[in-house]
Amino acid sequence: MIDRPASAASVDADVTLVLPDGAEKVVPTGTLPADVVRSIGERLLLAAVAVSIDGEVQDLMTPLRKGGAFRVLTERDAESLPVLRHSAAHVLATAVRRLRPDAKIGFGPAIDDGFYYDFEVTSPFTPDDIAAFEAEMRRVTQEKYPFVRAEVDLPEARVRFADDPLKLERLDDFTDPAEIISTYTDGPFVDLCRGPHVTDTGRLKHFKLLSSAAAYWRGDEKRQMLQRIYGTAFFKKDELEQHLFRIEEAKKRDHRRLGKELDLFMLHPYAPGATFWTERGTTLYNLLVDFVRERQQRNFAEIKTPLLYNKALWEQSGHWGKYKENMFLVLDNESGEHEFSLKPMNCPSHYLMYLAKKHSYRELPKRFVTFDVLHRNEVTGALSGLTRVRQFAQDDCHVFLREDQITEEVKFLTDFILGYYESFGLSATLKFATRPEQRVGDDAMWDRAEQSLRAALESTGRSYELKEGDGAFYGPKIDFDVTDSLGRAWQLGTIQLDYANPERFDLTYTGEDNATHRPVVIHRAVSGSFERFIAILIEHFAGAFPTWLAPEQVRVLPISLDQAAVAAAIVERMVAAGIRASLDDRNETLKYRVAEGARMKVPYMCVIGRREADADQVAVNTRGAGEGQKPAPVAVEDFIARVIAETKTRALSLTAGA
Ligand SMILES: [Zn+2]
Ligand SMILES: [Zn+2]
Repeated sequence: MIDRPASAASVDADVTLVLPDGAEKVVPTGTLPADVVRSIGERLLLAAVAVSIDGEVQDLMTPLRKGGAFRVLTERDAESLPVLRHSAAHVLATAVRRLRPDAKIGFGPAIDDGFYYDFEVTSPFTPDDIAAFEAEMRRVTQEKYPFVRAEVDLPEARVRFADDPLKLERLDDFTDPAEIISTYTDGPFVDLCRGPHVTDTGRLKHFKLLSSAAAYWRGDEKRQMLQRIYGTAFFKKDELEQHLFRIEEAKKRDHRRLGKELDLFMLHPYAPGATFWTERGTTLYNLLVDFVRERQQRNFAEIKTPLLYNKALWEQSGHWGKYKENMFLVLDNESGEHEFSLKPMNCPSHYLMYLAKKHSYRELPKRFVTFDVLHRNEVTGALSGLTRVRQFAQDDCHVFLREDQITEEVKFLTDFILGYYESFGLSATLKFATRPEQRVGDDAMWDRAEQSLRAALESTGRSYELKEGDGAFYGPKIDFDVTDSLGRAWQLGTIQLDYANPERFDLTYTGEDNATHRPVVIHRAVSGSFERFIAILIEHFAGAFPTWLAPEQVRVLPISLDQAAVAAAIVERMVAAGIRASLDDRNETLKYRVAEGARMKVPYMCVIGRREADADQVAVNTRGAGEGQKPAPVAVEDFIARVIAETKTRALSLTAGA
């Protein structure tokens, strides 16, 4: 299938491939991996998707130019999936070009969950277009076109893509004459591409087009708008089905949608990136803050610091130089200059508080926490629901400590953070990030910092992932990623060691030796921001919060007006006991009112008919028990006691129902 075995520059030499069992195979440069795999076994060739040479994935039709550790990749290898997905992008372009020959082609890479391809067309694609493209893709896969690779020189490539201005522009990037330009052809379609691809379009079986959206050519907002089609592909049918199910479920749980349906918050163009919390949303927000506060009652000192600062602070912290475009600057009316800024983080104000007093080694560790509002100037295009906002609050803590306390402190903070996540049924993975290339401090400092942080991590007995070079410029850190009920990972908490700011702000303490010493600072956040954490909780629980977090815990429904007075009195008793209960005595059918309570995901609905009213009972309807449930009567006092107990223990599942 290959008409040109190798570029002229690299003939004669042999390449040495080291197979997984250690055996060596010497083949001439330019040999096709397909031939190497065939020599190992015909059956293996059928199973092969691509090969890996020293960790670099290459397809079966790209001539070998260098040797190294040689592995044959099959559907079972993780590296194979991007190859399949990128090939699917070619199949998509093939289908689009058949139906819309005027479409100009951009790029079509594999991405985390699938693939996309960009097209320049005169009008956006409709859902009908997308369905037609998917059907056409099906045909392209049934026709089993081999992916044929050709290596061409620049003039030839220009001729081949004469009708594709976007590809011609891409060809302008080939300035190094030694660089190999390759094209891949499947059936009627030819693309400028480096590969790798599967052997033929028939390898693509389980795929789905998902959506289309506008995207700038090369991500540049000054360039023309293209239409991007997203899709996904898997080797196995059930994997595709599971993925599609998760997408559907994620849509249903989207916090922006549920936030509206459950009346939790709203956004308004007059305050981009800032949240308006409704009464229910504010209750939820405050419950979370109260929970953090309660957990931090001992061992932490909550303080409040100003929101607005003179730029002198940001000059000292270095933000004025490096972070200014992310800050909201405030004009000083007298000077007419931007001399103030809203705080984008609490750290510098905590340093000022620390500096206000002298500290002895005995007081350390000293932990300041603040829940103040912060502002960061995210570009409006990046704003999204509660996850990308401009105004938010963190459970932000800064610990001032002696170097010899790091291990113990990190262990304490790690347990604190993990315990917090566990109370929501969220599991977490730990990532240990070490010194980055751009950093402050000498190697001895980094050695000590990394050693103590690692020792602390290991003392927790938890496994962690090492992220070499991913630390902050001022010190190593531990990041906490939580996994929600849909299996999605979110980066939330962090523990960061900081040796730089104590220097910058000249923070000190008096040691046992009476001399002046430099403390270390730890930056710690648990929820990230409350806004983002609430978004995650909404999606994690699909809006069905556990009783302790539910803005409305109990709704009381009299069957008829005859029971309205009794029902109102029962609500009063519940509220007096500390339950967030409400009354729905509207002149609507019981069925309607129950359905509405269910839609609002109220944990318990208490129905009161004549029998219940006479016996001081409620018939309890428990959320999630299904339409056919038979509400069982419970004595009002017993029900109140159960809800209170469930709230106190922060139970994750509903237990107070009958
Ligand atoms: Zn390609
Ligand atoms: Zn900080």
